[in-house]
Amino acid sequence: MRRVEADSGNVDVKRLVVKIGTSSLMNDTGELAIKRIRSICADITAVAAEGIDVALVTSGAIGLGRKRLRMQNRPRTIPEKQAAAAVGQSELVQVYDRVFAEFGIVVGQVLVTRDDMKARGRYLNLINTFRKLFEFGVIPIVNENDTVAVEELRFENNDVLSALVACAIDADLLVLLTDIDGFYTADPHTDQNATRYSVVDELTLDILEQATGPASSYGTGGFRTKLEAARICMSSGLEMVIAGADTENVISGVLSGWEIGTRFVPKRHHLTGRKRWFAFNLPIQGKVVVDDGAKEAVKYNGKSLLPSGITSVSGEFSHGDLVSICGLDGIEFARGLVNYSSREVDLIKGSNSADIQEILGYKDYDVVIHRDNLVCLA
Ligand code: GLU
Repeated sequence: MRRVEADSGNVDVKRLVVKIGTSSLMNDTGELAIKRIRSICADITAVAAEGIDVALVTSGAIGLGRKRLRMQNRPRTIPEKQAAAAVGQSELVQVYDRVFAEFGIVVGQVLVTRDDMKARGRYLNLINTFRKLFEFGVIPIVNENDTVAVEELRFENNDVLSALVACAIDADLLVLLTDIDGFYTADPHTDQNATRYSVVDELTLDILEQATGPASSYGTGGFRTKLEAARICMSSGLEMVIAGADTENVISGVLSGWEIGTRFVPKRHHLTGRKRWFAFNLPIQGKVVVDDGAKEAVKYNGKSLLPSGITSVSGEFSHGDLVSICGLDGIEFARGLVNYSSREVDLIKGSNSADIQEILGYKDYDVVIHRDNLVCLA
């Protein structure tokens, strides 16, 4: 077992998710970067040989399909993207199958949609499948099931998908491999003064503002979605590293604590599987804004959310839905499953719990969101 040395603690890595983006798999003309792919697969093989479970999340289906179908431009319509993904995905998995076979490793294809992650039963099944694949020594090759994913319900891209997979399978570390060797204060392609962060321990507004859009013609991510992935990982208690796909032995290097890429330090507590599942896989149905006292109580003192601290409600939600909890600045700092509908919360906001009975004519709960159903975000 190897150790990751981060500034604020050590992580024992027993399970790892590696994500490779389209811009690292393909060069700008759309050819597969096979040398780079082989070197990443060799590195993964070396890590797996140490007894570490590794899952690989890979993009590239749409890009490869586009090339194969000779589409001049990035596919725009949903059927175009889905057709390109159908063609590209089979090529993609064949490439990994072939390259890993050179190293004596068997791979398995896992395609998921947001719907699969949202349905608790399917989510748990998926976790069992990963567990079995690891027992067999197989490297799961994961992508979004682009041919059936409905546009509004997509993961957005594989940065977020890889963070959700890492959380689901209880990985200790997510490594995002990209065409820039870390997260910079500005785009290093265009700004000579840009400097790389080696460690990020808090996602401040400044940092979020430094994230820029996609860089290459075949890639889709950019740093905004990488920071979204970081938020999921840090909130859940697992470490994330952004590193360059071209750095030699990059994954082994990260595991050996070399100073490579940018490390995102997790919050100290580790969220339970159930909290990770609802906080990041269920759709957010509405929002409540709370005053500073309630924010303090929820964020720092481990309290449930009471009606008294709520100042406004938006969206339409029912009992059991996932709702964002925002401070007076409008920024979300927590989310949780509500005990009351939006209509009810609107009526009881600002009131004492003791008055709920009088206001609603019934009182099923004292709190709007119980601590057991609430997650504070990084
Ligand atoms: N699932 C998409 C593909 O394989 C990629 C999404 C992304 O670029 O992250 O083409």
